[in-house]
Amino acid sequence: MTDSPDWPNIMQAVHHSAKPHFGSGKVADYIPALACIDPHKFGMTVALGNGEMHCIGDTDEAFSMQSISKIFTLALALQIYGDDLWKRVGREPSGSAFNSIVQLESEKGIPRNPLINAGAIVTTNHLVQHYSENSAHPQGAVGQLLALLQDQAGDKSIAVDEAVALSESETGSRNRSLAHFMSGFGVVQGDIERTLSSYFRQCAVAISCRQLARAALFLAFDGCDPVSGKRVLSSRRCRRINAVMMMSGHYDNSGDFAYRIGLPGKSGVGGGILVVAPGYGTVATWSPGLNEAGTSMVGAIALEELVRKTGWSIFV
Ligand code: GLN
Repeated sequence: MTDSPDWPNIMQAVHHSAKPHFGSGKVADYIPALACIDPHKFGMTVALGNGEMHCIGDTDEAFSMQSISKIFTLALALQIYGDDLWKRVGREPSGSAFNSIVQLESEKGIPRNPLINAGAIVTTNHLVQHYSENSAHPQGAVGQLLALLQDQAGDKSIAVDEAVALSESETGSRNRSLAHFMSGFGVVQGDIERTLSSYFRQCAVAISCRQLARAALFLAFDGCDPVSGKRVLSSRRCRRINAVMMMSGHYDNSGDFAYRIGLPGKSGVGGGILVVAPGYGTVATWSPGLNEAGTSMVGAIALEELVRKTGWSIFV
């Protein structure tokens, strides 16, 4: 990559390559509150280590964070539990859908990784147990997630969309099944509905591309925000979160995403994708139409063009 890339030009090229595909893919209508989102929306923000932000499209419109929240709850759980977290959740790719239950029976209720729904429910269960026992944190696990996002983004307006959370809870039979099944193995512990409520609310956080890219910048700089200098995670843990993202960030689409984009990333069924370019910065895209695996179709196309233009890759 050149020393001073022409960012306005790069962002225009990304928009140009994505535009013919606007509206493609299928909006996640299994969560009724998400079914009405305009599939033609598209936004992208690149946040760089020097504090520059480069934006194009619907970059300030809040969308449903959904599974991208799993990265931040994983960071919080690793801060509290350290490597003990890995006793109840694995770190192998699953090769199956985000809400699949099939591996759980033969693997004694231990989910393959913290980025599939089952694994994220286990991570949230750890956080719920920790914060409900800790009166210093009355806002609970979701309060901690919001505080992390707001502090890192420097924006207090990031909040839970309670209508989306309710909609997901009302249609959450599959996630309830996962949680109860894992509880039968002692992997999910304590109050199951409380854990599920926290999981639904974390998925329903509304965030814009600009806020998300900025909030995640510590992941591209070994756990330390390069602009504020604030350390969020140890460098070792940060690298490990990125490794898990690389292998499992897009469920059974993770191999294809690594092949096409070559950077750790996490998708959400709200149409967002967060990508980490270690040493350079972060990218957040949003476009609601999804492929079969639940990754934004237009977002992935735009990211392909971005890495083509910048040369960003962890395989350099
Ligand atoms: N909240 C969604 C669910 O549990 C998250 C899935 C996703 O974004 N892949 O079904």
